[in-house]
Amino acid sequence: MEAYQNKYIFTPGPVKMSEDILALGAQQTPYFRNEAFSKVLLECEENLLRILNAPQGSKAVFLTASGTAGMEAAVTNLIGKEDKVLVINGGAFGQRFLDICDIHKYQTMEYCTTDDDLSDTSKLEAYKEATALLLNAHETSVGLLYDLGALGKFSHKHDLLFVVDAISMFITDHIDMSAQHIDAVIVSSHKGLALPPGLSMVILSPKAMERLQEHPSLYFDFKRYLRDGERGQTPFTPAVTIILQLQLRLRQIMANGIENEIKRAAELARYFRESIAKLPLRLANDFMPNAMTTLSPIDGKTAYQVVLDLDMEYNVVVAPNGGELKDKLFRVSHMGDMNKAYIDVLINALYDYYGVER
Ligand SMILES: *Cc1c(COP(=O)(O)O)cnc(C)c1O
Repeated sequence: MEAYQNKYIFTPGPVKMSEDILALGAQQTPYFRNEAFSKVLLECEENLLRILNAPQGSKAVFLTASGTAGMEAAVTNLIGKEDKVLVINGGAFGQRFLDICDIHKYQTMEYCTTDDDLSDTSKLEAYKEATALLLNAHETSVGLLYDLGALGKFSHKHDLLFVVDAISMFITDHIDMSAQHIDAVIVSSHKGLALPPGLSMVILSPKAMERLQEHPSLYFDFKRYLRDGERGQTPFTPAVTIILQLQLRLRQIMANGIENEIKRAAELARYFRESIAKLPLRLANDFMPNAMTTLSPIDGKTAYQVVLDLDMEYNVVVAPNGGELKDKLFRVSHMGDMNKAYIDVLINALYDYYGVER
């Protein structure tokens, strides 16, 4: 694994981390049942709520677990057996919400799409008896970004509990809990936040907190987290080091301004997409996030072969797809510690690979 230091990283999680974040990760993990750590956690919560423009009274739950645990915990804490849950299924992560609902025996309705951002919600009117809506704001398996504003309006109109997995678009793309009527947001450390994997956060609006269920598990019971969170603590040992890294990262984001962060991500995505226009690669859909570009080879090469060749020949790591999309699509992340010079390494590798003059 040592050689990974020398690779150029374009995977949608883990993503490339900055030197100052890496340096914090090399420190001893401090003891955390004290005032000093409480301050750190409360500062992180406050900054998360501000970045999301969360309604007054919202709270954050900090889970030591990957993003899927955040998804599962959000569902099991917020959804009741009497709820009718509408799940937007655009790929692997939409399917994951459905799998979570199936395991816990919730009533679900599924709306499948692969290339529609759902800005026109009239097709969802058929599901208006739903009481909750589960959405992956960016369906990372195919690179599809949904229209949160339109879906929020739809949820508001029909009084649905709107739960958004924002894991792979937080920091790179626009999300606003108040304006978009979002009741709960799931984010995770190792995507746009560009920290190591292992920390997930669920941000709850007051409306979401009113819906908290009796929870059949000890570790994932949000009520415990909210109780201890009042004084900046967690019921169990948190991912202390990642939280210290989060504190630094959120300070940087606040100092730069969230709109500037998003602008920067948009500019990098645009630069990459325009730069590769001459190559035999097609953009996979019309609704890509700033976070990632999904490409399909049109010269007969399989996507998987391109992924392997880029790694072997150029030390560049992009993300393959799984299952039936393995040969069709591969993904290039723009999340993390990126700039144009870094992206140029990938662009130049692609031009060299295809034997085309840049
Ligand atoms: C990465 C990701 C997750 C979390 O996956 P983990 O492997 O559990 O970290 C969840 N939802 C989306 C949309 C993702 O991109």
